[in-house]
Amino acid sequence: MQKLLEGRVAIVTGAGTGLGRAHALELARHGARVVVNDVAGSDPDSPAGRVVEEIQRAGGEAIADGGDVTDFAAMQAMAQRAITKWGRVDALVCNAGVLRDRSFTKMSLDEFRLVLDVHLMGSVHAIKAVWDGMREQGYGRIVLTTSSSGLYGNFGQSNYAAAKMALVGLMQTLALEGARNNIRVNCIAPTAATGMTEGILTPESLEQLPASAVSPAVVALLTEDAPSKMIVLSGGGSVEAAHITMTRGITLGDELGSEQAPAIILERLNAISDRTDERVPATGFEQCQWELEKAGFEMELPGVK
Ligand code: NAD
Repeated sequence: MQKLLEGRVAIVTGAGTGLGRAHALELARHGARVVVNDVAGSDPDSPAGRVVEEIQRAGGEAIADGGDVTDFAAMQAMAQRAITKWGRVDALVCNAGVLRDRSFTKMSLDEFRLVLDVHLMGSVHAIKAVWDGMREQGYGRIVLTTSSSGLYGNFGQSNYAAAKMALVGLMQTLALEGARNNIRVNCIAPTAATGMTEGILTPESLEQLPASAVSPAVVALLTEDAPSKMIVLSGGGSVEAAHITMTRGITLGDELGSEQAPAIILERLNAISDRTDERVPATGFEQCQWELEKAGFEMELPGVK
């Protein structure tokens, strides 16, 4: 078997159960030494402790960490644990997550903030804890766990969808900022039978969606040959990509400034959303560049600072 992560040091957050557990096992199978993080604890009989034991039994190396991703100091301690034991951190999978589903009408602000805190700030904390080390060593691979709920919306998940789409924005920018130090950042949008989806999907469909079916895509995104700035979807053995595109749209000419302009836009919604020749901007500035181009101006893109 070709071990794609031989000698690498990786951290997986929320890896005591579900997808994180499956990722940790698959990373270890590919030769990575793994920090198995989970807020549920790090004792030998905690979920993370049991994953560590499973890895060790299969001949791999792993340690458990009980840090809460919402606590930056705990994430710094987690990164330090890996560095003390193995000298570096090459790869990070931000996977820890919770749900507090409720229609927006009924959702409290506390429920909204908690979900943002765990998914968005939890990922920010874990990344911030390893970022400087990755920059200094000129190597890093990061996977953020987004969701179809954020990409496409799901009833009752406004907090979760907002948090998951925020992670896409974080990835888009960190991929740009990390590039010169060989740090590659991607998103995974999984579908899997876990504690999180129990009761949401039917038992028959859950049978087709083992968490382990998502992990090969995660390993691929952590290898030396990984792409950067991709949104990869995976479930049940399938792997797809999602793109945030921009259509060719329309250009308002003489109508611009007239009071008819909003009505013209409404009339031309079909042309505005026509996907023929749509593009994927490489950076946010490209929206501005293309709009100026269509208006007959040329703009140079601002350089990377
Ligand atoms: P899960 O509930 O089985 O696992 C989540 C794990 O995260 C648990 O072990 C939990 O203890 C841990 N965790 C929760 N809060 C934490 C914190 N503050 N600090 C550290 N660990 C914490 O759920 P899962 O389905 O395996 O979810 C894993 C990730 O995949 C989540 O980010 C989830 O949003 C995402 N996701 C899952 C699906 C799916 O179909 N299962 C779909 C889209 C996205």
